[in-house]
Amino acid sequence: MTHRPGIVVTGASGRMGRMLIETICDSDKARLVGAVERAGHSWVGRDVGEAMGGAALGVTVTDQPLDAFAQAQAVIDFTAPEATLEFAALAAQARAVHVIGTTGMTPEQIAQLEPAARHAVIVRAGNMSLGVNLLVQLTKRVAAALDEDFDIEVIEAHHRHKVDAPSGTALMLGEAAAEGRGVTLADVADRGRDGITGARERGHIGFSAIRGGDIVGEHDVLFAADGERIVLRHVATDRAIFARGALKAALWGQGKGPGQYDMVDVLGL
Ligand code: NAD
Repeated sequence: MTHRPGIVVTGASGRMGRMLIETICDSDKARLVGAVERAGHSWVGRDVGEAMGGAALGVTVTDQPLDAFAQAQAVIDFTAPEATLEFAALAAQARAVHVIGTTGMTPEQIAQLEPAARHAVIVRAGNMSLGVNLLVQLTKRVAAALDEDFDIEVIEAHHRHKVDAPSGTALMLGEAAAEGRGVTLADVADRGRDGITGARERGHIGFSAIRGGDIVGEHDVLFAADGERIVLRHVATDRAIFARGALKAALWGQGKGPGQYDMVDVLGL
């Protein structure tokens, strides 16, 4: 392994892909050694720096992920669930650390990561920022301290292009609240209320999603009782926080034993 781990970014042309490439190129702790896009994408075959509208970076965008991964110590992947499953198998084959930021994976898809995690390090988190991971811990503690007189609601807002709801972060927060209460989220989650839903059930955890404009990501965890309420809030104003967290995870994973980890491990929270 070289002093500065080589990193491949998948989904290079995406909102997060571009941010990751900038973050890696600005870092003195890692090198960009590959950029992957889907077959047929207009960036394939071009220098990734030029495709981003800047100076050449000496890295050509490829649609052959295994060739790219074989040169790398880590793969940072913010793409789509199907693509992430394919990349997990290939990153394991290359023994590269696979940092997964992709959200919207079903429980079945998450279970399918297990064979890859037997051979390589996977760090997966619905949110890579320090602030949100701290909020997750706070949510767990507050939920554990309050009884079911407090209704828990997770409210999130994102830009108009987001394709999944609730957000991966909202689900992390819901999981944390459920864990704090000692219940299973799947048993108590109220998602997508519409029409005559009936009164709110005691002990349930509700989710609401707002989509619009260029909102990077906002999350409130509301604990509402009769006569008072507590709101825990995180507001992201710059995608760079996710990219910095992902790079930190890629570096942290070097030399770790195979298995699945999350940002709580990386940040030591
Ligand atoms: P985006 O649509 O801008 O980018 C996704 C990119 O993936 C596109 O460039 C697309 O061409 C590429 N892609 C899709 N399938 C591919 C394949 N098979 N091979 C190679 N490339 C492929 O989306 P985005 O806003 O950058 O978000 C990407 C994902 O990251 C989403 O799931 C989003 O929710 C998630 N996200 C996670 C965090 C976090 O901290 N975990 C933060 C922000 C976004």
